[in-house]
Amino acid sequence: MKHLIPILLYHSVTGTPARGLERFTVRPDQFAAHLDHLIDDDRTVLPLGEIAEHLRSGTPLPEGAVAVTFDDGLADFAEHAWPELRSRGMPSTLYAVAGYLGDRSRWLDGPAAESPMLSAGQLSALADGGVEIGAHSMTHPQLDLLPRARAQREIADSKDALEQILGRPVTTFAYPHGHHTRAVKDLVVEAGYTSAAAVRDMFSHDRDDVFAIARLTITDATTNEDLGRLLQGRGARPAPRRQLVRTRLGRQVRRLRQTPSRSDR
Ligand SMILES: [Zn+2]
Repeated sequence: MKHLIPILLYHSVTGTPARGLERFTVRPDQFAAHLDHLIDDDRTVLPLGEIAEHLRSGTPLPEGAVAVTFDDGLADFAEHAWPELRSRGMPSTLYAVAGYLGDRSRWLDGPAAESPMLSAGQLSALADGGVEIGAHSMTHPQLDLLPRARAQREIADSKDALEQILGRPVTTFAYPHGHHTRAVKDLVVEAGYTSAAAVRDMFSHDRDDVFAIARLTITDATTNEDLGRLLQGRGARPAPRRQLVRTRLGRQVRRLRQTPSRSDR
């Protein structure tokens, strides 16, 4: 049987979500309760890069391995999420949109596009504090719909930009919106990353694809009971090695529409 690895995906932690981001926002007390649940359940929380290392080498993961990951790099991470993680000594991985640091979340639509982003200085301080920083592109496009050269720049430039800021290697990437293809994955490998996180809303496991690691989206509606079910390996499926047909169909639909859905995540 596959050894399931729940990799939790958060976006925003605040009591005052931007309109349009409500579903992807958890309250600070809800987030703290989730972290306490991980502790009470004797989970071993690891940075994603460390889980990827185990997937690559085939060495067994610690019992009860879990990861806490964040996408986008919204400023509320520093205000509401980091203090809770730090006070519990809990590792985390934060994937930042490198082109909008110190700016606003301009890839989103409507009021959500005005959400403040972490500054370069804040990101650097978080890295010094032990947060693993990964890249999440420059401008959060749907990489699978971009011409190859533009996708390549989004992937490689975000690595370079973050390494300049942090003064340390950035080895993990998260696909914006989770969208990826074989070609996009190849660009991530070529850029020198050693792992990449997808979304998929499925369990990762010890045979997961290290360049499309499955994560579980945590929403405003995720209660401690829901989290408990996920930790027990229930409420989602293990990720298959091959992409699902519906993922490919979804790409065709997005391509035909030619109106990138900028508001989803
Ligand atoms: Zn994102």
